[in-house]
Amino acid sequence: MHPLPRPRLDAATVFGVCSNAAKLKKDKKALEGHSQTVVDAVAAYEAAAASRALHTLQHLVHEPGGAPDLTGMPPKPKTAAINVALINGYTNRMAKKGSAGHTFYLELQKSGPDGQCALCGCRYADTLDHQLPKTLYPLLAVAPSNLAPACSGCNKSKLDLNPVDASQQTLNPYFDHEADQHTWLTARITPLPQGNDTPFDITFHAEPPPDMPPVLAARAKFHIDQLHLAEVYASNAASRVRTESRLIRDLALVDPDDIREHLAYNAKNWTTEQRNGWEAALYTALANDDWYVNGGYLVVAG
Ligand SMILES: [Zn+2]
Repeated sequence: MHPLPRPRLDAATVFGVCSNAAKLKKDKKALEGHSQTVVDAVAAYEAAAASRALHTLQHLVHEPGGAPDLTGMPPKPKTAAINVALINGYTNRMAKKGSAGHTFYLELQKSGPDGQCALCGCRYADTLDHQLPKTLYPLLAVAPSNLAPACSGCNKSKLDLNPVDASQQTLNPYFDHEADQHTWLTARITPLPQGNDTPFDITFHAEPPPDMPPVLAARAKFHIDQLHLAEVYASNAASRVRTESRLIRDLALVDPDDIREHLAYNAKNWTTEQRNGWEAALYTALANDDWYVNGGYLVVAG
């Protein structure tokens, strides 16, 4: 997770633009009537997110009134229509290219580090992720603080996750900055016996330190698991281990202490970029691995 400053966009303004652009008069009217409800829901969301208590917002699920009918059939409970209109506010009038609220969408989409996904920190953010899903929390469908720049992979993995307790939640780039005050992502390199396709295996793990607040520590683990980031990072790291190994060989860094120093420098440098990014974890692991610095790099370099 890459921490981001909270969006400067005003929730009421974004909701107003996305509502006023509704084509159906009855939708427009229904949405206008809920402006204050939306503002109140966003305030409740932001307070809960700041105190790591999003699971306490169950009363907002499908409010106001009943589950949204997304089947295309006429909604049976009268109140369900408003939920559909709220969700359409995002899909048709914010996410849709050229729509009235699309400039807000683009501003949020581009707010990630170098345009990258704030959840994995390593892929292009081509979409927005609802921290609380719009299908369950329609009042938060266009709330800027509920929308983080994300890649399709993370967005798809997160699905319509409804947090049921304090720990079963992914990290929130706008509200969980404290998670980045701890180093909790680690990597391990393991030599493999001859005959394998590659001479090493690299794995990534969420291993929070003991002084990390327990709820944040649990959420860091959940974040990595839910978004399948151990697999994503391992896939990214394999080629880096090979190119780095050839670099060390070609620089003629023979002394293990010199190799450690070189790798530790890279680890420090990448930690400055992204403390819990895969590069920082990878270089830290390589610098501390006895097999790697004592000739393992030559095996990898081939
Ligand atoms: Zn991502």
